[in-house]
This record gives sequence, structure tokens and C-alpha cells, in this order.
Amino acid sequence: MSTATTKTARRQTLDPLDLVGIDQLLSGDERAVRSTVRAMCAELVDPFVADWYERGTIDDVRELVRSLGRGGLLGMHLEGYGCAGMSAVDYGLACLELEASDSGLRSLVSVQGSLAMFAIHQWGSPEHKDEWLPRMAAGDAVGCFGLTEPDSGSDPASMRTRARQDGDDWVIDGRKMWITNGSIADVAVVWAGTDDGIRGFVVPTTSPGFSAPLIKHKMSLRASVTSELVLDGVRVPASAAFPEVRGLRGPLSCLNEARYGILWGSLGAARSSLHAALEYASTREQFGRPISSFQLTQQKLVDMSIELSKGALLALTIGRAKDDGRLDPVQVSVGKLNNVRSALEICRTSRTILGANGISLEYPVMRHMNNLESVLTYEGTSEMHTLIVGQAMTGRSAFA
Ligand SMILES: Cc1cc2nc3c(=O)[nH]c(=O)nc-3n(C[C@H](O)[C@H](O)[C@H](O)COP(=O)(O)OP(=O)(O)OC[C@H]3O[C@@H](n4cnc5c(N)ncnc54)[C@H](O)[C@@H]3O)c2cc1C
Repeated sequence: MSTATTKTARRQTLDPLDLVGIDQLLSGDERAVRSTVRAMCAELVDPFVADWYERGTIDDVRELVRSLGRGGLLGMHLEGYGCAGMSAVDYGLACLELEASDSGLRSLVSVQGSLAMFAIHQWGSPEHKDEWLPRMAAGDAVGCFGLTEPDSGSDPASMRTRARQDGDDWVIDGRKMWITNGSIADVAVVWAGTDDGIRGFVVPTTSPGFSAPLIKHKMSLRASVTSELVLDGVRVPASAAFPEVRGLRGPLSCLNEARYGILWGSLGAARSSLHAALEYASTREQFGRPISSFQLTQQKLVDMSIELSKGALLALTIGRAKDDGRLDPVQVSVGKLNNVRSALEICRTSRTILGANGISLEYPVMRHMNNLESVLTYEGTSEMHTLIVGQAMTGRSAFA
């Protein structure tokens, strides 16, 4: 009798969004990080984000970036230079909460911390680090990361942007496309071909010849700044180049960091959508009953929650491996591929539970779903991650 009572009590405490209790695998400090970020998002973003999305603009984005900086979220997994030096799991949990608000917010933070700041932290000279990292960590300076070009996406080795030496300077010509934070950035990390292979350059966006027109008419990531970078004879000093790194190793090391954040973040969009679907299903009545009482609805809810738990376990396993220094980049591809794909499926299924209301911005579901279409494509498309994992499994490259 007492055993049965205990079992019943346990069952009643089950969290429908965390059926297997992954929460208990987190430390108290990790849960505290998550709560802090969740509270920040609830105050700074959630009341406004649907409106930003509808209008395709973030009101007072610079103040938002400063608030994120004050909260220690910019470059939070980096050491020194005013960065918080948190663990990979802490960073992942933060990404999840940010993306539960909107993938655009997580993209802003990812590009600032994992692409622009990480590139400077990992590959920059001491002067680059001193000049940019403290301001970027505080949110007083915004960074962007220019790799993709109009004719060069999945195959960055084909980039056309060139940097040539002219006396003591470098002169950069080319165009970058689909660059997050581009139009609001103070500094752009630009990758360009040189006679010595691909190199990275730290380019102040006030440099003559540099412009960053906004890309409009997006149907996805509307609460995110996406831009073209135009480099028209941009002259920077010799010291603007990353001193050591050559070839694709430089940008790929940064992409790996950002992909890590995405494999956590995408679960936030999924959790928010499932939460909305669960609430809706319990209040919406058809045929005289809540739609959550129909078997087909329950099957959808159950399948989604199980997929969410599987994704969270995968993220936590990868996060612990990263913190232990034993993470293989292929494992990041496994995580990004699976979790973004699952998250998108969860959003689509949640959308069906909300019926016609599912297409409205009154609910977060279709906003998340549309956002995840970008997330599926950027930082390596799902096809490219499949081929990365396929190559690791078979020893054969199917890229070209
Ligand atoms: C909102 C948004 C923000 C972005 N932010 C940034 C940013 O901040 N910085 C940046 O540098 N880039 C950014 N990107 C660009 C993004 O990384 C690229 O879109 C992505 O790498 C894919 O490149 P592409 O769009 O040119 O597609 P393509 O490379 O042209 O691919 C088109 C299709 O062909 C497939 N394909 C290509 N090659 C192969 C192959 N060998 N085998 C099988 N299939 C293949 C792809 O998987 C895809 O399905 C952003 C994109 C978006 C949408």
C-alpha cells in the first residue's frame, strides 16, 4: 500500500516537458544559470518579441545587447577579458532559454559570443583581444562574422572575397551574404582569400569602403538583424589579420562553437512550442471534450515530449564531453542534425494541435517553426552535417 502511494505521488510530480527527469542530472548551479536566463528573457524579450517579429525589427537592439552583456551572456563560455568563463553546459542551458524566447535572440548571442568573440579570443593578436573583447562582453560593441558569400555557402573554400597586401596595409574586396548582426556591428570578422590561403581579418565597420545593408523580406528569423557585407577596397593595417591561422581551420573552429550552442538552443524553441500545444490541448474543446482527451492528440504530445527528452539527453551528453575536453566535432554535427530536425518536427506537430490558431503570432509556435527553417540551414545545412557524420562512419567523403 505504501509503495503504491509513493509511486502515485511520484507520477503526479512528473514534468510533462521533462518526462525522464533530466533536470535532476543538472547541478544546483546549472539550474540557477538556467533560472537567471529564463527570468531575463521573460523581462527583456518575451513581452515584445512577437511584435518585433511581425515588424521585422528589434526595438532598441543596442540597449538589449547591453542588457545581455550586463547579464554576463556575451562570450559567457570564454575566459578573461570580462567574459564570465562559464562551462559548456551552462552556456548550452543559456542558449536553450534564449531560443525558447526566439531563435533570433539566440542567434544574436551566438554570433556575438561563439563566432565573433570566439574568433578573436582563439585566433586574434593580444591587441585584438584587448581592444575588442571587454567591450563585446559588456555589450558595448557588437560583432559579426562574415564567411558566407552570394556564391559560396556550404563550400566556403570557393569564396571570392580577396585580401591583397599593399605596402603595410591589407586591401579587402568582396561581398558577404546573410550575415547576422551585420548592420548593427562595430566590428566584423571577415574571412578572405590571400596568396597565403584563407585568412581572418578584424575589420572595424567604420572603415571606408565597408557597408552592411540590411536584408529584408525574410520569412524566418525576423527578430534578428541579417545583412549583406560590402567590402569595396577596404584598407586595414597589417595588424588587422589574425596572425597565425591559415585556411578553413580558422572559420570552421568558430562554426563548431556556434553549432554547439544551436544543438541546445533549438530545444528551447521545441519546448516553448510543446508547452503551448499542451496548454492549448487542455483548454480547447471540440465534440464536448478537451482535445487533449483524444488519442491522436495524446500520441502527438507523447511523441513530442519523448523527442524533446532524447534531444536534451543528447545535448547534455555532448555538453559534458565538451567540458571534459573529449568532444569530437563530428559529435557536434550529430547533435545539431538531430536536435534541429527534431525541434522543427515538434514545432510542426504543435502547430497542428493549435489548428487555425497555430498560424497566428498570438502563439509562439509558427514563429519558432519559421525560425528553425533558418537554423536548419545556417551553421552547416542538415545535408552537410549528414555528410560529415557519413564520412566519419564510412571513411568516404560524399561532399564533392
Ligand atoms: C538567417 C540566416 C543567418 C545567417 N547568418 C550567417 C552569419 O552570421 N555568417 C555567415 O557567414 N553565414 C550566415 N548565414 C549563412 C548560412 O551559413 C548559409 O546559408 C549556409 O551555410 C548554406 O549556404 P547557402 O545558403 O549558400 O546554401 P548552398 O550551400 O547553396 O546549399 C543549397 C542546398 O544545397 C545543398 N548542398 C550543397 N552542397 C551539397 C553537397 N555537397 N551535397 C549535398 N547537398 C549539398 C545544401 O545542403 C542545401 O540544401 C546565415 C543564413 C541565414 C538564413
